[in-house]
Amino acid sequence: MFDSLSDRLTGVLSDLRGKGRLSDADIDRTCREIRLALLEADVSLPVVRTFIAKIKERAKGAEVSGALNPAQQVVKIVNEELIGILGGETRRISLAKTPPTVIMLAGLQGAGKTTLAGKLGNWLIKQGHTPMLVACDLQRPGAVSQLQIVGERAGVPVFAPHAGTGVGGEGALGVSAGDPVAVARAGVEQARTEQRDVVIIDTAGRLGLDDELMQQASDIRAATDPDEVLFVVDAMIGQDAVTTAQAFADGVGFTGVVLTKLDGDARGGAALSVREVTGQPIMFASSGEKLDDFDVFHPDRMASRILGMGDVLSLIEQAESHWDAQQAEEAAAKIVGGELTLEDFLEQMLMIRKMGPIGNILGMLPGAGQMKDAIAAVDDKQLDRVQAIIRGMTPAERANPKIINASRRLRIANGSGVTVTDVNQLVDRFFEARKMMAQMSGRMGMGGINRRSK
Ligand code: GDP
Repeated sequence: MFDSLSDRLTGVLSDLRGKGRLSDADIDRTCREIRLALLEADVSLPVVRTFIAKIKERAKGAEVSGALNPAQQVVKIVNEELIGILGGETRRISLAKTPPTVIMLAGLQGAGKTTLAGKLGNWLIKQGHTPMLVACDLQRPGAVSQLQIVGERAGVPVFAPHAGTGVGGEGALGVSAGDPVAVARAGVEQARTEQRDVVIIDTAGRLGLDDELMQQASDIRAATDPDEVLFVVDAMIGQDAVTTAQAFADGVGFTGVVLTKLDGDARGGAALSVREVTGQPIMFASSGEKLDDFDVFHPDRMASRILGMGDVLSLIEQAESHWDAQQAEEAAAKIVGGELTLEDFLEQMLMIRKMGPIGNILGMLPGAGQMKDAIAAVDDKQLDRVQAIIRGMTPAERANPKIINASRRLRIANGSGVTVTDVNQLVDRFFEARKMMAQMSGRMGMGGINRRSK
């Protein structure tokens, strides 16, 4: 996501490194290159203009002095301004004082609304809420059953005009199945009766913008008085995202934006323009078809990622949600003491792999942009092989790898379908890594690592 923009910007900014002072010409050149990078990433022209003007003014101004060197100052300014156009602070959902909180989803057909309804429902459950989905897309054939499938997968109940019998006729609560406004209203009522605390209303989209669509969305909005109207937009549609956003802002109005399909080769322009153009914040980002490919949008983390500074906070959060804190702490203690065993190593590896494909995890580290080729070369299959080798060892061997002599190596290799060289490499590297980790943690005084109080 944002790979080429990130490459360009890190390239431009790293050219400044090593300069004792920056002349106005240096700043002008840098700004010109940043401008080109943004335009190529499909960021809308007015946004680029304002952005560049601010950077230029700040970079040339008195601000460039103090503890940071000139290149660092410029990076700091670009970072702050990027955070600014991405919306500044992370914007959380505003919950209704009296439940249920009503969240309405709007956007073009194919933007990812139905998929999002499931992801959002799943995320809300994890936050301790009791969501319900309401199927108001009565136009697209199959939309209601798609939402039902999504809901089932996410473990969220779905209110539909009348389950399973298709469109038409009188449904649950005597609501006419053809009237999305009535379905929306009845859905909210049902959530109140069932004491569900959040209602997510999935609405119909069209392939293009049209008045009828806007009118319907407006009517649903008026009937349900939502606490949030989320405009869902496919980040891959480039400049069109801005036009569509503007049309929805004028026609229906919304309180927040959800960017979807950030996993595609999106150039990022939508993300960087939509907030400036509509004045509404990006609240969530969707980056895949799975339920978990979804996160709260943090402008500061995204800016950091775009500038190649990594997204360590998201990495830590992901780690925390998948790791067993006690296990991690025990492992850290063993690392410090130089007592890590292959059993521990295997456990750690399994925990890391629960966080997703290894390339995605490494991609969040600072400098990941420069290591892109190396990261792409990391293959989950290599890790499968390491796992197979360790699994082929006896518990005694895992606990005390020193006993793994030549005949044991041969047995392990045969048992796990690899060569003796593979086993040798793994064991040798393990000893080297254990030594290095113990030395590093000793030097850095990391005895307390992982002991963060929660
Ligand atoms: P709707 O018409 O707005 O309800 O859109 P859907 O939820 O049906 O999504 C349209 C298509 O986009 C489906 O094939 C989804 O699986 C896919 N999709 C939705 N969100 C994402 C995403 O974040 N990444 C990717 N790669 N595909 C997505």
